[in-house]
Amino acid sequence: MSQAAAKPVPVPDEISAPFFDGARNGKLMLQHCSGCDAWSFPVRERCPHCFAARLTWRQASGRGTLYTFTIMHQVMNPGFASAVPYNVAQIDLDEGVRMTSNIVGVANDALRIGMRLEAVFEGDTVSIPKFRPAAG
Ligand SMILES: [Zn+2]
Repeated sequence: MSQAAAKPVPVPDEISAPFFDGARNGKLMLQHCSGCDAWSFPVRERCPHCFAARLTWRQASGRGTLYTFTIMHQVMNPGFASAVPYNVAQIDLDEGVRMTSNIVGVANDALRIGMRLEAVFEGDTVSIPKFRPAAG
């Protein structure tokens, strides 16, 4: 009997630690620029809009809209062998940034572009945001 491969998990670094700390506590944390009032994602050192090094961490709403998705049928990493077919989705968060994640709590054939979503947090060693259909 072979043992199932583990899913790869992200490794937080000094810059991204607040994102993963928030996820572990059930909060979607994003960087916000105090120079130009814009949100940004992925995590970075400088604002992608005005290039100021004035990014601070704020809790985001965790709500957004499904922008697009695909269904993975091939096992590209043995850690995901038991998960296929699974979706990979891009979510437009209400704060104006786009995040890649998975939609959970709904069948893949029920996914619809534009559906409203809310963040949930999953993971054993590192929590990461996933999304599910929004209540109400
Ligand atoms: Zn800025």
